[in-house]
Amino acid sequence: MMLNTKFIFIADLHLSPSETVKIDMFLRFLKECSEKRNHLFILGDLFDYWVGDDDLDNPLHQRILPALRNLTYAGAKLSMMRGNRDFLISERLSELTEAHILPDPFVIDLHGKRTLLSHGDQWCTDDEEYQAIRSIVRTNQWVNDFLELPIPERHDRAQGYRQKSNAAKQTKDAEIMDVSVKTVEDAFKTYNCHRIIHGHTHRHAHHQHLIDAQIRERFVLSDWSDRGQALIFNNSDYSDQFFT
Ligand code: MN
Repeated sequence: MMLNTKFIFIADLHLSPSETVKIDMFLRFLKECSEKRNHLFILGDLFDYWVGDDDLDNPLHQRILPALRNLTYAGAKLSMMRGNRDFLISERLSELTEAHILPDPFVIDLHGKRTLLSHGDQWCTDDEEYQAIRSIVRTNQWVNDFLELPIPERHDRAQGYRQKSNAAKQTKDAEIMDVSVKTVEDAFKTYNCHRIIHGHTHRHAHHQHLIDAQIRERFVLSDWSDRGQALIFNNSDYSDQFFT
């Protein structure tokens, strides 16, 4: 009998070179995911920042990319979405790891249910300041200018943007930084989906939305700190898995 695909969703690991415990946890997790029937989806912000696919000498990337490649070499499928921190991930990473890079948002058939996947930051429409910055840094002009800088300078700037964004978060109301319920409900309708899975807000939850007299589900993935989380769909059952 053919086994159903086991779907595994994670997001917001925010890996950075100093967080060795989290890196080791992720490498162990990848080994455990290496079964052929598995399909791992990383829904954005695997890395705390990504300054371009030419930054491959970086010791962090030299540990993570081969581990992703081992997963696909073992026969598991790997799909990745860009997050707001690592939105510069491009084809080179995909070639090296055999990961499919998905557009955001993206619809999959998850055991017969249309399921919409997204990092989620584009649905934080109440945060107008964030959306304004987002639309600038996603232009070809901004990306091309950034990628022309020397790699060390790109690292400096990425760290600067991080500090600015952390400072901005201190002054904002928590509700503003969550996804807008109206925007999410519009997405359910636009993509005619029963289920949404997203990350970004770090507000691990299982929500229900009543739309056109139908209950639809929205799963928000946790970020990874000293504890990792994966959402697993196995033969139409789902479960949250936590590990350290
Ligand atoms: Mn994010």
